[in-house]
Amino acid sequence: MGTPATLSLETLPAFTNEPYTDFSAPENRRAMQEALGRVRQQFGREYELWIGGARLKTEEKFESRNPSRPSEVVGIHQKATPTLAGMAVESALSFFPEWSRFPVEVRAEMLLRAASILRRRKLEFDAWVVYEAGKTWPEAEADVSEAIDFCEYYAREALRYGAPRPMLATPGEKNELVYIPLGVGVIISPWNFPLAILTGMTTAALVTGNTVVIKPSSDTPTIAAKFCEVLLEAGFPERSFAFVTGSGSVVGDALVLHPKTRFICFTGSKEVGLRINELAAKLQPGQIWIKRVIAEMGGKDAIIVDAEADLERAVEGVLVSAFGYQGQKCSACSRAIVDRSIYDEFLERLKARTETLTVGPADDPANFMGPVINENARRSILGYIDIGSKEGRLVTGCGSVPGEGYFLKPVIIADVEPKARIFQEEIFGPVLAVTPARDFDHALELANDSEYGLTGAVFTRNPEKIRKARERFFVGNLYFNRKCTGAMVGAHPFGGFNMSGTDSKAGGPDYLLQFLQAKAICERMA
Ligand code: NAP
Repeated sequence: MGTPATLSLETLPAFTNEPYTDFSAPENRRAMQEALGRVRQQFGREYELWIGGARLKTEEKFESRNPSRPSEVVGIHQKATPTLAGMAVESALSFFPEWSRFPVEVRAEMLLRAASILRRRKLEFDAWVVYEAGKTWPEAEADVSEAIDFCEYYAREALRYGAPRPMLATPGEKNELVYIPLGVGVIISPWNFPLAILTGMTTAALVTGNTVVIKPSSDTPTIAAKFCEVLLEAGFPERSFAFVTGSGSVVGDALVLHPKTRFICFTGSKEVGLRINELAAKLQPGQIWIKRVIAEMGGKDAIIVDAEADLERAVEGVLVSAFGYQGQKCSACSRAIVDRSIYDEFLERLKARTETLTVGPADDPANFMGPVINENARRSILGYIDIGSKEGRLVTGCGSVPGEGYFLKPVIIADVEPKARIFQEEIFGPVLAVTPARDFDHALELANDSEYGLTGAVFTRNPEKIRKARERFFVGNLYFNRKCTGAMVGAHPFGGFNMSGTDSKAGGPDYLLQFLQAKAICERMA
């Protein structure tokens, strides 16, 4: 059962965020170029399914490609079938009794080791993220650093939940509350934080004593396969997790509907999240629990720029929130709501700044924006740009950028009505809708006019308006006088309201509770 249980919260240093590599330093730039070169040499390798400690190949395969140069195959992966998905759940179930009895200190120690391995291989993982997800160097670095943060943070949190909590003593009795794991969890992750979100969801489940089946996005399976190597190297037993690649629409239902699946931890689109929630609610023959669903979904995030804002700061905040990683963050700003007294000036400045942004291959550090994830995404975003050009006034950006990759220019569409599709629907690309507000109350009303409720920001110097927004702006993550992206583990627990999901608050003190159930124990003393 691993090493003796020596780890404790008292002896561990307090959690701090992983520092970012400074790519302005020549030696770091050189090291990153070398990492990109090393990773490129591994392009086109084949990766297997891992079920019950065995590596499996299927007849049918699929490829993941570099969105900056789609002719490049990053990895070749197996197309799992519903039968294999079922086997994965059953194998995870068979190891659950053993794994759930590992001391929490031993599991936490494995997680700290995973953090060290990721730290050691950081630039290599950055390079995989650059190539497979199309993130620029700094965006990839933030993704990998967040993955390390999740490991460090959840290791400490597991120790905190692992200690029994004394309860009120009743006469002659000792009372305790202990937290125990749930069972087999299915982890379904998106491509846009291909390492961080996958790592956060998987490690939270494992460190609390659950076994898991990992089903990564079909756009970024190589990063997921590399992460599974890290889990093994860190000491997680082969049978504590299974790795199942293949189309979500083919294996998803089998994983979710399996009677032995105890919970599903999903991050992705609203449509898929709602489907999972619905299917998980249907009792299957042999199922003896209510499946738990943790579902973090889309966003239509707004930034309010008030008449009393520092305009320059607001322009920068909106710019990076809207166009960082090509607008493909659930937290991205896709609506700017601007007081009409400063509307024209704001737009003029934002347009000027936006037109300086460079777009091109993500591995070239000269580019601020890389490609969107795939051809379907590009087509869908171009469709929205077309719709938006009719719904509002196209201020800047139109269409594709030359080159093999899925590149798009950053787009600003002004004078958008609140009921317009581009004001209401998640586009998930570099498209910003801008709308004037009569006053601050109107701005708040417009910001809240959404089925989503993930992130939001307000730029103002007025404390009374800050007070009002704290109370009324209905989002899971609210920021003042800064961008609405870039939540940090331990500082900004992350998750949204309404159709943005179950508000699970990843990277916060309540997160691990969702992977646990509490048991109250009372012992009569005499
Ligand atoms: P997606 O299309 O919903 O896919 C997410 C995952 O679900 C993928 O692994 C996908 O597999 C799988 N899947 C697809 N169909 C399924 C089914 N029927 N049953 C079970 N699983 C299925 O989302 P995405 O395009 O990867 O990610 C973008 C979305 O994620 C955006 O809406 C974004 O806002 C949201 N997001 C939210 C958060 C948050 O914290 N709230 C964070 C990041 C992203 P395949 O790839 O094989 O289809």
